[in-house]
Amino acid sequence: MYNGVTAAFGTMHGKEEAVAPVFAELLGVEVYVPELDTDQFGTFSGEVPRRGTALEAAREKARLAMKKSGLALGLASEGSFGPHRSFPLVAEHHELLLWRDEERWLEIVEHHIGLDTNYSSGVLTAEELPAFLRQARFPSHAVMVKSGDFVRKGIRTEEALLAAFREAGGPVHVQTDMRAHMNPTRMEVLRVLAERLAHRLLQPCPDCSCPGWGLVRSVNGLPCESCRVPTPLVQYDVLGCGCCGKEQLRPRGTQASAMYCHICNP
Ligand SMILES: [Zn+2]
Ligand SMILES: [Zn+2]
Repeated sequence: MYNGVTAAFGTMHGKEEAVAPVFAELLGVEVYVPELDTDQFGTFSGEVPRRGTALEAAREKARLAMKKSGLALGLASEGSFGPHRSFPLVAEHHELLLWRDEERWLEIVEHHIGLDTNYSSGVLTAEELPAFLRQARFPSHAVMVKSGDFVRKGIRTEEALLAAFREAGGPVHVQTDMRAHMNPTRMEVLRVLAERLAHRLLQPCPDCSCPGWGLVRSVNGLPCESCRVPTPLVQYDVLGCGCCGKEQLRPRGTQASAMYCHICNP
């Protein structure tokens, strides 16, 4: 449905390297990256805080890229990193990839939530550095150094790191550089998300044949096998169309093992 068209990608951190080949191969879509400043929507280094949610930030980036290029199709991604909601010592990566089609009034979003990330930060002394750098997957993954107003990003060599330490002086805040072109792990997540989004765009709605038919939400409450009380497991997925609003339920199973039941297995 999109074969031969061009979409504008709102990025300035080389994410097209992960996304463009996938879109070309699976969809026949060319990805164009206009010149724009996406840092205005927030930076990982904290100089510019993100306004609104990750979804809103991605939407703004896609819209800006479309406006700059005059294209009706747009792409953008937004990554968030932080402590896992239940296990605060583990870092979690949430990435979303958004597709906008302004001719069809369509927006499709694919999400990735995973624990494979090098994300970490801390106020470190020179002695504490080696352990941090191992976890940060340095130097294949870049780090940044901050101290007061001093910020040095994209550090990928030991010399540059030591120079930044000397220049910063005093207590130094070291942080993994999560920008895509500095972080191969994040780049790989973007490639996988691009594949998922492309496959989704190939699925037409059974009613109106609009592209992008797929999972819109999941509903918990699969009943316990022994007492029938709803468990926290997913009972069914809801597949939907972003154009006409048609939805279909897809059950995940008929019953949950009693081990997930708060009555049978408190
Ligand atoms: Zn039960
Ligand atoms: Zn439809």
